[in-house]
Amino acid sequence: MEQIGKIRQSTGDTLAELIERGRIMGKENCIFCKIANGGIPSSTIYEDEDFRVFLDLNPATKGHALIVPKVHYADLFELDDELAVKAILLAKRLAERMKDALGCDGFNLVQNNGAAAGQTIFHFHLHLIPRYEQDGAGIAWNPGKVSSEELKELVQLISET
Ligand code: 5GP
Ligand code: ZN
Repeated sequence: MEQIGKIRQSTGDTLAELIERGRIMGKENCIFCKIANGGIPSSTIYEDEDFRVFLDLNPATKGHALIVPKVHYADLFELDDELAVKAILLAKRLAERMKDALGCDGFNLVQNNGAAAGQTIFHFHLHLIPRYEQDGAGIAWNPGKVSSEELKELVQLISET
């Protein structure tokens, strides 16, 4: 509980918000912690000391897999920098392998952060989604409109320089 108090003090989140975000779930209650560390069996296609990669149980397409770190990070904002680099390099390698093995026509890397972005499991993961012509997976958004004023405002808000 002391640990929870510290996190609450540092983030100002309510307990319910913290639980929802998975920050204090740890290995005992997080399904991806259990799967990644071998506590629950999975259809593993790759494993090393940092990650397990296993097939999604409700795949968007044939071969949909998840790169999951063995250590619990709720999302991209928490993820260790070194692991972020390793995850993207691993994604590149596995995408190449899956393209050869499955003969897919395209490939999506998808990574959701927060319920608003569609995240349902609050343990960082990177989706590897092989795409096939006419697969109907529907990973898309409705293209919006933006004015030149809004573009300028956004550049001011976001740009680092
Ligand atoms: P998110 O929506 O959080 O980005 O993605 C969570 C993904 O995990 C979903 O695609 C869902 O199908 C998958 N998933 C949820 N529970 C399990 C599970 O117990 N085993 C496996 N293999 N995949 C899961
Ligand atoms: Zn976890």
